[in-house]
Amino acid sequence: MGGEKFGSFGRATPPARQAISTDDAIALLKSGTAKPNSLIGYGNGRSYGDSCQNDAGAVVDMRPLNRIRAFNAETGVIEADAGVLLCDIIAHAAPYGFFPAVVPGTQFVTLGGAIANDVHGKNHETAGTFGCHVLRIGLARSSGEPLTLSREENAELFAATIGGLGLTGVILWAEVKLAAITSAYLDTETIALEVIGPDADAEVARLERPGP
Ligand SMILES: Cc1cc2nc3c(=O)[nH]c(=O)nc-3n(C[C@H](O)[C@H](O)[C@H](O)COP(=O)(O)OP(=O)(O)OC[C@H]3O[C@@H](n4cnc5c(N)ncnc54)[C@H](O)[C@@H]3O)c2cc1C
Repeated sequence: MGGEKFGSFGRATPPARQAISTDDAIALLKSGTAKPNSLIGYGNGRSYGDSCQNDAGAVVDMRPLNRIRAFNAETGVIEADAGVLLCDIIAHAAPYGFFPAVVPGTQFVTLGGAIANDVHGKNHETAGTFGCHVLRIGLARSSGEPLTLSREENAELFAATIGGLGLTGVILWAEVKLAAITSAYLDTETIALEVIGPDADAEVARLERPGP
């Protein structure tokens, strides 16, 4: 399989020609016959550039791997397959009062893609990147044996996998700490800009007129 289904958002490069399932990818990795550069994870293709493409081999279609494995409604810790979309995590956790601590400008990205690109949100200055909230990662590497990565276990590989663009292996699952939703309302501050220029008074009068 391959083709349009495996393009990237920016359409900068032709879509991947070849795609395989995670089961086939793991079998290939375990057989020891996978060639260097032959496989790369493909989340939901929401990358602007070509990072989810692989001219030299195949992409691994993560989307069928889409199970939420565990969720603690007390702590907000969720464990899910890498192909789960952020919108599905939100649908699952929001009724319990939890939300991903960091979300990009689209909710249609996979958990694996959010980790591999270490995505940022509009709250970057306070929450950091998505990777700051990842607790554990399950990773399949060329040895075929899945590894568990965390800040304590395989710590260097954990750090390299967050923002690693899929180059350290295929992320199979991850455990993430969600943020508690403190309120359904937003705190907002409106700051008026100074109107300058020859028609400033008329412009201020226009802006102050009640709207329709
Ligand atoms: C409308 C829009 C708004 C956006 N806004 C933001 C934003 O505000 N902030 C931001 O940071 N980004 C933003 N992005 C970019 C987007 O969040 C990232 O490109 C994200 O990584 C895409 O996730 P994906 O699941 O589609 O992954 P893909 O695009 O399929 O892949 C992205 C990278 O992750 C790797 N990968 C995917 N899954 C796996 C896996 N299971 N194991 C290993 N590697 C894997 C791929 O090889 C590739 O390198 C936006 C994109 C769009 C289209």
